[in-house]
Amino acid sequence: MSASSELSARRASAVARGVTSVINSYVAHASGGTLTDVDGREWIDFAAGIAVTNVGNAAPRVVAAVREQVERFTHTCFMVAPYALYVDVCERLNALTPGDFEKRSMLVNSGAEAVENAVKIARHATGRPAVVVLEHAYHGRTNLTMALTAKNMPYKHRFGPFAGEIYRVPASYPLRDGGLSGETAAARAIDLIEKQIGAENVAAVLIEPIQGEGGFVVPAPGFVPALHAWSASAGAVFIADEIQTGFCRTGDWFASTFEGVEPDLITTAKGIAGGLPLAAVTGRAPIMDAVHAGGLGGTYGGNPIACAAALASIETMRELSLADAAASIEATMVPRLRSIAARDPRIAEVRGRGAMLAVELVSPGTLTPDPAAAAAVSAACHAAGLLTLTCGTYGNVLRFLPPLVISEPELERGLDIVDAAFASTGEGRVGGGVTLRQ
Ligand SMILES: *Cc1c(COP(=O)(O)O)cnc(C)c1O
Repeated sequence: MSASSELSARRASAVARGVTSVINSYVAHASGGTLTDVDGREWIDFAAGIAVTNVGNAAPRVVAAVREQVERFTHTCFMVAPYALYVDVCERLNALTPGDFEKRSMLVNSGAEAVENAVKIARHATGRPAVVVLEHAYHGRTNLTMALTAKNMPYKHRFGPFAGEIYRVPASYPLRDGGLSGETAAARAIDLIEKQIGAENVAAVLIEPIQGEGGFVVPAPGFVPALHAWSASAGAVFIADEIQTGFCRTGDWFASTFEGVEPDLITTAKGIAGGLPLAAVTGRAPIMDAVHAGGLGGTYGGNPIACAAALASIETMRELSLADAAASIEATMVPRLRSIAARDPRIAEVRGRGAMLAVELVSPGTLTPDPAAAAAVSAACHAAGLLTLTCGTYGNVLRFLPPLVISEPELERGLDIVDAAFASTGEGRVGGGVTLRQ
């Protein structure tokens, strides 16, 4: 019996069934672009722990910073006895996020907690209740963020009742909305907001610049800027959830930059601290500072070890130019994915930006989602030692999130596996229109 099988058996009688894993192998150690399991098998990593280990696993600077900090002190609670590291991280976030205006930040433990706090702050600052979110949105699994998240199964099913004053409007999904322009898709959403919610009731418009769990959906150009402009004119807070897109993942520090959008508030987490749990809300000083003293916080928020890891991760991203690395991963991967798409009619679209790339699978010649095909290709990748993930409202999107430090040979080897996985699971091979939306 393999060590992983033994662990699986122990897990079944120890770990709650609701918590699942993508693969059945248990990790022993991991580095830049690979994981090694407890049976000594090496995996190429196209998941990065869901866009977290952008700087690689156990990145040298992160390890050194954590080691140093854990020996100094582990926890005092910033609300009780503060420390410099928290202030340092907030300064870095204020400087790195888009917008040349005065900002403030606050630190929490998880992405969902960051989104919850952004909503609290926006409601407090505006004195309004309504929060506008998009179809296909993913913002987390806590009670408020379940309400903000679109997809029922598995995130919301039987977990209600949900928080109120959340309103969902149509997103821009070029493959599935007939290729509406960004402006037209935004006008459709705005019309609904004005007619059904009322502009003066809207505290916040909350979007992901590129939708993550919802399917790596890149909105048509102009969609995000139009919603941003509308929010400004309506006195609503525009919140960009950059939890998955942030920290160099899409080829810049933040994805909002690609369309020149300077959000009022930005939520960050995942890639921020090289794998340690940390998250943040960063934004315009008057909005962030609207909240009364003591209104924000939490026991662990901005834990000193996580802050030390964040500073080291950010330094690594700068030192290794990981935004450029993400762009060159795109330059390597997209032609390979397009050539697979050209011979495999199940691929309706290759899309994404930087090292946040995906293919959407359908029944050939239609837009009917084919989640079984995505699962089959992903399983074939796993069998060959490549860790891949699926996503999407319809579960039919195969997504690729390599660590930004992955080596060129590892990346090519991973792509060879993807190529072979499509070949071994497909049937006919005729034509296949593919578009890459940037
Ligand atoms: C992962 C994610 C979240 C939730 O983050 P957690 O740390 O899992 O709570 C929120 N928004 C987006 C866009 C995400 O990708």
